[in-house]
Amino acid sequence: MDKQQEFVLRALEERDVRFVRLWFTDVLGFLKSVAVAPAELESAFAEGLGFDGSAIEGFARVTEADMLAKPDPSTFQILPWRGETMGTARMFCDINMPDGSASFADPRHVLKRTLSKAADLGFTFYTHPEIEFYLFKSLTGAPGTTPEPVDSSGYFDHTPQGIGNDFRREAITMLESMGISVEFSHHEGGPGQQEIDLRYADALSTADNIMTFRVVVKEVALSQGIYASFMPKPLSDQPGSGMHTHMSLFEGDRNAFFEGGAQYQLSKTGRAFIAGLLHHAGEITAVTNQWVNSYKRLAVGDEAPSFISWGHNNRSALVRVPMYKPHKGQSSRVEFRSLDSAANPYLAFALMLAAGLKGIEEGYELPAEVEDDIWSLTSRERKALGIKPLPSSLAEAISAMEDSELVAETLGEHVFDFFLRNKRAEWQDYRRQVTPFELNKLLPVL
Ligand code: GLU
Ligand code: MG
Ligand code: MG
Repeated sequence: MDKQQEFVLRALEERDVRFVRLWFTDVLGFLKSVAVAPAELESAFAEGLGFDGSAIEGFARVTEADMLAKPDPSTFQILPWRGETMGTARMFCDINMPDGSASFADPRHVLKRTLSKAADLGFTFYTHPEIEFYLFKSLTGAPGTTPEPVDSSGYFDHTPQGIGNDFRREAITMLESMGISVEFSHHEGGPGQQEIDLRYADALSTADNIMTFRVVVKEVALSQGIYASFMPKPLSDQPGSGMHTHMSLFEGDRNAFFEGGAQYQLSKTGRAFIAGLLHHAGEITAVTNQWVNSYKRLAVGDEAPSFISWGHNNRSALVRVPMYKPHKGQSSRVEFRSLDSAANPYLAFALMLAAGLKGIEEGYELPAEVEDDIWSLTSRERKALGIKPLPSSLAEAISAMEDSELVAETLGEHVFDFFLRNKRAEWQDYRRQVTPFELNKLLPVL
């Protein structure tokens, strides 16, 4: 047993932990959990805990079902909402095959593999997500009815005794107690819409933290008698919930995106990374925006991108280079704005990194930045500027992904095939639906 594993076993005793939840994530980004008694942990550390992979979305066919969940001791945390005595803890797991090799179906492994590719090039990948979500009064309306937001406030509003303030305070306290640092939080643009931004961390920790964040936010909401949703676009006439992510590559403790005196203090490496993101943006969209509903958020502006471009202070751009803050040291970074709060963070980060690295490896040229509001340009003006649209539906995103070598290589054949099959089925299912929109518009006149 190594030192970290021993630390966990000691902590279990000292803190009276009775249940240990082993967490992992399926291919669509849903959290899975199995609880073990502390006495079982030593063998889980040694061999992993066996489970039926064929029952997990995207993991295995029935004939190759046996898999092992191996807890990562560095992710050990007590779950604060389960109480102090007779407590519950959790660890994230890596998924292995019976012969001990890593499972190709494990999203955490997909990200780790891409991070080690970055490491071969000398880079560590850091991310900082701005996570948006809605708070609704409840989920108990009839299926298909519009949910009711908990308040009618807007961007940065501070309402005395606002439900959002209390909610954010409790959620943030809980996140901090689990070692997840929060940098900013505020009311977002939509009624009941909130944003909480996590501090920069290496991308694997960030992806784990996002999974934990979703559980914490939902738990805190339930304890306050409300419902939290990460659905990309729950309300037709209000902004959707994005997960803008700031990224940078470090070489040792040097930010490889920083170059003093360069435009926006952005190095050649940083520019090539953006060029890679833009070049492959269409291909990775099925993963960064994986639901039929994701494309409703990307359709109408509201500071969510619909076109492939970059800019400095341009909130209609897909990639933005935020204002440089000298007091923060070498803080050069790029913000990717299409990603939504309902993506699988492991797979999305792997593809965003792979696209950027490709730009660096191949020396892609960065196209000119666009400082206009892209939404106010005519389609002719956009064409003249060479601005292409992002996929406008899940179907378009699927076709772009199908032809992508970069996505196939990064996800690996198993995840690539499963994902496409699953998303084609979702699209087919959606296509045949007659929607309230059609009934409202057409039935009275046709
Ligand atoms: N809610 C917007 C989106 O869907 C983002 C608003 C903002 O700029 O933070 O991306
Ligand atoms: Mg925001
Ligand atoms: Mg942002």
